[in-house]
Amino acid sequence: MRNVVIIGSGSAGLTAAVYSARANLSPLLIEGWQSGGQLTTTTEVENYPGFAKGIMGPELMKEMRAQAERFGTEFLTGDVSAVDLKTCPFTITVDGGQTINAKTVIIATGASAIQIGLKNESRLTGHGVSTCATCDGFFFRGKELIVVGGGDSAMEEATFLTKFATKVSIIHRRDKLRASKIMQHRAMHNEKITFVWNSVVEDILGSDVVTGVRLKNLVTGKTSEMPCAGVFVAIGHRPNTALFVGQLEMDAKGYLITNHGTTTSVPGVFAAGDVQDSTYRQAVTAAGSGCMAAIDAERFLESREK
Ligand code: NAP
Repeated sequence: MRNVVIIGSGSAGLTAAVYSARANLSPLLIEGWQSGGQLTTTTEVENYPGFAKGIMGPELMKEMRAQAERFGTEFLTGDVSAVDLKTCPFTITVDGGQTINAKTVIIATGASAIQIGLKNESRLTGHGVSTCATCDGFFFRGKELIVVGGGDSAMEEATFLTKFATKVSIIHRRDKLRASKIMQHRAMHNEKITFVWNSVVEDILGSDVVTGVRLKNLVTGKTSEMPCAGVFVAIGHRPNTALFVGQLEMDAKGYLITNHGTTTSVPGVFAAGDVQDSTYRQAVTAAGSGCMAAIDAERFLESREK
């Protein structure tokens, strides 16, 4: 029987682990098969307090994991395949086999990249279509690329890709960016980046690898083809909450609803980070809510004992 089981190894989960380990709750953190969450697929993090010169996302997560380990967090590598949150102690099944019982659960499963939804997008994923410039940018040295989206992710991916590519075209469905001013400025002043406004990717072309895209201008209705070797999709994220459908309250977009800090609709189950936050979605806000979830879980356990 575990006091605290944390599901997810991004900044929310790892911060919850640091706090609950330091509260002597001996947390178990189930980290998935790919530890570290979304920050492992990002480049330089410039806005996480405490790093005046910035820090690479994967490095930041490595440090957070080491910090959680230092205070005695136990890690389990594997994916949670089922949860039963109807009765306490709660039951968590990992990879369809091992089951774990827990007095409290902290859900920090984060969010995943959204895809455009084209047939050729899934067929050519790994063959020129990607949602992670840090992971795949290296393979496109000397090539022309496109990035889809108008938010911070799209600006960041495009800017990063100019290290390798000869030209990066950002395809955005409107004529105004959603990205923060600083990220916009950086992309707009990069001579390798061009913008294609009011346009969407209608199809991704290529038999074995990506050779181009078919674009549609939403104002004129005209379609055109643009050759490219890679398509980086950066159009936002969806919360990873499929495991909790029917057991925890969610909003219309599937984000977990939390009240009074990080409490979900089931007492003893807490949620932190992007899985419950469709507004801020920052590494530092995720870490902050991970801290809150650990404190909420500790107080819940104390009140049960009394
Ligand atoms: P986002 O802010 O939600 O932006 C998504 C972009 O994709 C929007 O421009 C949207 O267009 C476009 N889009 C959505 N669905 C589309 C579709 N089906 N087809 C074409 N375009 C589509 O997502 P994000 O850029 O991933 O950022 C998420 C959060 O992370 C934000 O809070 C952001 O500030 C943060 N972030 C921060 C950093 C940083 O500071 N270093 C880096 C990355 C992300 P519309 O504008 O028309 O809606």
